[in-house]
Amino acid sequence: MEFEGSEPAMGVAMRTPDWSQLDDNLRAAWRFLAFECTEEPVQEGPPLLPPREVGLTVVLDLDETLSHCRLEQLEKKPDFCVQFEESKATGYVYVRPFAQLFLQVAARLFEVVVFTASSQGYADQVLDQLDPDRRCISARLYRQHCVERGGAFLKDLRRLGRPMERVVLVDNSPVSLALCLDNGIVVSSWTAENRVDRELLELLLLLQQCVQQASVAQFLVERYGLRYMVDMLRQQPELIGAEFG
Ligand SMILES: [Mg+2]
Repeated sequence: MEFEGSEPAMGVAMRTPDWSQLDDNLRAAWRFLAFECTEEPVQEGPPLLPPREVGLTVVLDLDETLSHCRLEQLEKKPDFCVQFEESKATGYVYVRPFAQLFLQVAARLFEVVVFTASSQGYADQVLDQLDPDRRCISARLYRQHCVERGGAFLKDLRRLGRPMERVVLVDNSPVSLALCLDNGIVVSSWTAENRVDRELLELLLLLQQCVQQASVAQFLVERYGLRYMVDMLRQQPELIGAEFG
């Protein structure tokens, strides 16, 4: 097993977080994952995706993974705007560096699905801009496809209708991955203030390694793996300032 300190063959996407530097949201997310969330049986129902033979299904989160939406504009012009149906507010959307290149390359190598906990009305406006010809993202899943637990929206890959050895979920929030720890890749949360960011390029390299594996889950478990980080927190709750047994 190769954990911390090993050759960073997988790039920054799978680094162990700097626990002392987590913001409050991420700290709460990791606490939820390590101490409050228990894995559970998959919900009954038809698969979320139509049948398809694929080498690897890459499921991508949207907000703070591919783009960032703010209610106030920064000095830098947004890439585009969206309208929120209920509040009638305007959202200023900034696209993560390399996001469109990432989608174009990834779509040639993998089945690319976007799975967001956001509303469909908002997400479709963003995705119509990110993938205007609908050539890159083969399916879109929204909040209504998530599993809600304690106010958190979890993304259960087991409901997709894909073999679990051939599917990976990329998300900036560890909470989203609670029901599929072995298939998750946590990326850093990107916001528009961060102009220099290469995480999506690193992610492409990691995914290219994943597609070559007989079992992606096994590969991710053995290299860092989300489960490793959760186990680390359960053994050392003081790492995130949690006083649990
Ligand atoms: Mg997100």
